Amino acid sequence: MHESLEKLKARLAEINDLNMAAALLSWDQHTFMPSGGAPARGRQLATLARISQEKFIDPAVGRLLDDLLPYGQSLPSDSDEASLIRIARRDYELALKVPPQFLAEFNIHIADSYQVWAQARPAGDFSMVRPLLERTLDFSRRYADFFPGYAHIADPLINLSDYGVTVSALRGLFSQLRARLVPMVRTITAQEPADDSCLRLHYPEARQLAFAEEVVRRLGYDFSRGRIDKTRHPFMTKFSLGDVRIATRVREDFLGEALFSTIHEAGHAIYEQGIAQVYEAGPLGEGASSGLHESQSRTWENLVGRSRDFWEYFYPRLQSVFPDQLTAVSPEQFYRAVNRVERSLIRTDADEVTYNLHVMLRFDFELALLEGSMEVADLPEAWRQRFYNDFGMVPEDDRDGVLQDVHWYGGTIGGAFQGYTLGNIMSAQFYEAALGARPEIPSEMRAGMFGGLQVWLTENIYRHGRKFTAGEVVELATGRPLAIDPYIRYLQKKYGELYDLN
Ligand code: ZN
Repeated sequence: MHESLEKLKARLAEINDLNMAAALLSWDQHTFMPSGGAPARGRQLATLARISQEKFIDPAVGRLLDDLLPYGQSLPSDSDEASLIRIARRDYELALKVPPQFLAEFNIHIADSYQVWAQARPAGDFSMVRPLLERTLDFSRRYADFFPGYAHIADPLINLSDYGVTVSALRGLFSQLRARLVPMVRTITAQEPADDSCLRLHYPEARQLAFAEEVVRRLGYDFSRGRIDKTRHPFMTKFSLGDVRIATRVREDFLGEALFSTIHEAGHAIYEQGIAQVYEAGPLGEGASSGLHESQSRTWENLVGRSRDFWEYFYPRLQSVFPDQLTAVSPEQFYRAVNRVERSLIRTDADEVTYNLHVMLRFDFELALLEGSMEVADLPEAWRQRFYNDFGMVPEDDRDGVLQDVHWYGGTIGGAFQGYTLGNIMSAQFYEAALGARPEIPSEMRAGMFGGLQVWLTENIYRHGRKFTAGEVVELATGRPLAIDPYIRYLQKKYGELYDLN
């Protein structure tokens, strides 16, 4: 191996070790840490982040990368070595453009902003966070300005989580999708919603967790390289490719919460567990983008976990775990309950059909704020108006409106939301390609076998890690660029069976 490549890999592995140690501290913070640990934990995380950043933007890394440029270019661009050099260089150049002083100030600001939001939200008081959000907007614009030459001011922010995706491409996709979804939502919500009262009985926690664990084990989540714990906001995290954890939450009065949160996070984890082992501790050893990641959590949660095939296998098992609650509920009633569509205020509770309208509202507002065509002060009223247009209802207060998501209060404005809808669109395109290649997948699922699907996803998506951009993965795996039609076909077929769509 090239000597400089050896040195580069060693340096990057060291930085990765620091980042994974920080991830472990953060996992503990969100699961088991007593509240008294909070101040020190914040400081410890900041220290690790600073050391990791210093080690990475060190000119010595730049020299190694310069040294490796001709070598990387002499190799096939999809080889592991060329990809490692290319992605490391991309990360390095991006990191160099943002001054450490800016990052330090931004992180302090965001910590304040988050604290205030945590009080403003239950109080429903937007005026508390407004000045902080104005500063966040200012920070977000300044961040974008470190990348002059952008076509849209949101592009550099979107690049952080969905590399290579532009506002111009997103506007095209989202406006097509919106044009199809708004009438679909209107037609469905004009009809009687499915009865989901069977999900809203008393379901004891321990049995819910045991069932969710059985489900994700069967879907392919490897417990020898993972574990499940409880938390307030479900998440997936990892400390190495051999330790990819999830955290979930349970509501004893709603069966859907633990089950679908656990499947969703296990979907993220199955993706990470499927990355090629040779990428461990290097820049390729992660999921490719937020959209691609979300496509996988959504595949397992929705396309699989809310399908008839899945429940044909699992419903009798669920009934045996909760006989008092479910013996009298038919499989069809249960299927309809887990696929109930309704107009609702909260994005994270939304069903498959309405979900993307919640995302697009936020995405459009991010663009308007960054462009300067909307003021932070106008957000609450703009939210109510747009919500009324899209959903025919208005949140009673800002708690269920502009204050509901943590994203803008714990990060930048711009780049926070597009990944969710990109993921939904991608999930259907991948799934269609998987079914084309392996038509036996549905009958395997009805027999409780999910390995066929997992193998296809691993071969075509997971194993590549960050070697390709999400857009490249879509083309490689499905033979064409990302488009909304598989997703629309999926929704029409599934919901056309449940509701009258004409
Ligand atoms: Zn997710």
